[in-house]
Amino acid sequence: MPDQSYRCLGRLPFTTAPVHDETLDSYIRRLALLNEVSPRRLRDAVADSTGHVTAERLAAASGQPVRSLKYAVLQLCSPAELFAMNIAGRPKPAANQPGKACDQCAAAGGALVPVWRWLLHEDVLCLRHQRWSGRGPAAVGADIDLSGHREIVRAGRMHRQLIHGLGRREVRSAFNHAAQICHAWITSAPRYSRYCTDPYHHLQEFIRRGYPCTPADPAVAAALYPQTVALTELLADPKWWGLATSGTVRETGYAVFVLDSTPGFERFIQEIRERVAANYRWQPFPTYRSYDPLVRHIIDGIQSTANPEWPRFHLSRSTLPDEAFPPADGERL
Ligand SMILES: [Zn+2]
Repeated sequence: MPDQSYRCLGRLPFTTAPVHDETLDSYIRRLALLNEVSPRRLRDAVADSTGHVTAERLAAASGQPVRSLKYAVLQLCSPAELFAMNIAGRPKPAANQPGKACDQCAAAGGALVPVWRWLLHEDVLCLRHQRWSGRGPAAVGADIDLSGHREIVRAGRMHRQLIHGLGRREVRSAFNHAAQICHAWITSAPRYSRYCTDPYHHLQEFIRRGYPCTPADPAVAAALYPQTVALTELLADPKWWGLATSGTVRETGYAVFVLDSTPGFERFIQEIRERVAANYRWQPFPTYRSYDPLVRHIIDGIQSTANPEWPRFHLSRSTLPDEAFPPADGERL
């Protein structure tokens, strides 16, 4: 019973280094499993009298240098230490969601069990190993192999380029909306699913290879990702969003609004057909009180400019909090 023999803080027999941006819980769990100690017991052993885990006590137990632990696991740093460190562009713990790291990246770092790390909103796939980890509670299974899905990998690079060119906040917000719109399109068959013909060949291949493909599964988000990133650009780029919101909104009944087009709006729709959904047909009015989610998003954009209290289209599954430390060189915040 190695667990019970671990009575006081001492050097553990086996050690492993934390992975970059690993959560504190993940590192303690991996260290505990490696030494056959319960994670709870190890956490208690490396916490001070107030219950906070300190880098010094964790270093004494793990044998890892304090400096390395603090650089990899930012939860171990004080605000003053974070301010002094070069951590531009990394996710802020607690302001972001934790998610499973790419299994192959984790294995390369010596991890034998899944690693959880803080993620930025674009951290859905590993470009190096071409694996989709996804995000959120559904993304706990094995990574999805993206070999043969070059379009999805290319979208990952495009996603990062958009952040670099248009700014993290703008792209994050647009990506959240785009993900929700594309997901609503593919799950609202048959009314809008014709807008998602492109992702079907990815989905068919994922199904053939045995990946679960119900709407909440990471494989569906992966299949939709190229379309989502293409729509993200049109929603985030001020030029295209300006054309989208150049239409006018008329109220034709209680809470019924109609979107009237303009030449600029028609140009935006043409671009949607060229880049996002070849079969897209915009409907300016709701059907059974339900709008096409893209039309609803544009109406929200027009109305909220004039009225900040306008009740915007509620973001549910794809709301992704995301906050990075001050941006890396060249990246707009
Ligand atoms: Zn990887």
